[in-house]
Amino acid sequence: MSTCPLCAQKAQKHMTLPHTEVMACTNRFCELMFAFPQLSGEELDAAYRQFYYPAADIESAPYENTPEEILRHTFAEATSVFGPLKGKSLLDFGCGVGGLCRIGREYGLITTGIEPDVFARQRAITTGELNVYASVDELRGANREARFDIITSWDVIEHLREPWKELEQLSRLLRPGGRLLLSTPNAGSLRARLEGQRWENMINPTHFYYFTQRSLRLALERAGISDITEWRFPIPYPGHSWIRRLIHRGLLNLHLQGQFLVLGR
Ligand SMILES: [Zn+2]
Repeated sequence: MSTCPLCAQKAQKHMTLPHTEVMACTNRFCELMFAFPQLSGEELDAAYRQFYYPAADIESAPYENTPEEILRHTFAEATSVFGPLKGKSLLDFGCGVGGLCRIGREYGLITTGIEPDVFARQRAITTGELNVYASVDELRGANREARFDIITSWDVIEHLREPWKELEQLSRLLRPGGRLLLSTPNAGSLRARLEGQRWENMINPTHFYYFTQRSLRLALERAGISDITEWRFPIPYPGHSWIRRLIHRGLLNLHLQGQFLVLGR
């Protein structure tokens, strides 16, 4: 038994992974699944070097960044939520090597990044020509008045030790009327259910949380975020045949799709 870090109720062992145990909160209004214990700082650094940012050859990382087609499609859809994007300010929290910001600039957004990983940050600054800070504190130190129309965090919150803390900091950086846009893997997806401990997001040792619709909402509420809505539109995954696209639409309707896209403020 351990304690759920989100609601402080009891959690019990859900499954065993090679690198840790996955615990599940017994509170049915929470359902949070989390890695216990989390990797130490040293182990985590080694895992990021191995899986995301090999210092020698960043292009060879086993976990690729989100395909550009998906990001472009999301920005194209985003005007329905945010209005015209041109001239709006965007902060990407966990910007990696700067891919999302680079595509955001194609849509006229003025972009800033936050990336704690030193290798990725250097790469984003040098080749992405991006304004990147190591943390929210560093950004605020540089510009106390910095506020943004859109704050994105793409497949990042599942990596954070206590994501509600960073999310709370981020929500304070929104301009009046600004919105937060988060993406995270769906632990209640059809694939996650079928694959169990073989699901790629379980295997990934840098993930500390496996969010379902319910636990994600609770984590965002804990961070003080309001107006939480799931944003659902079909994503034309590159290489998918028409039949897979049709299946994707069906899964989306049933909340069984692979990724959550969530809006809040
Ligand atoms: Zn809980």
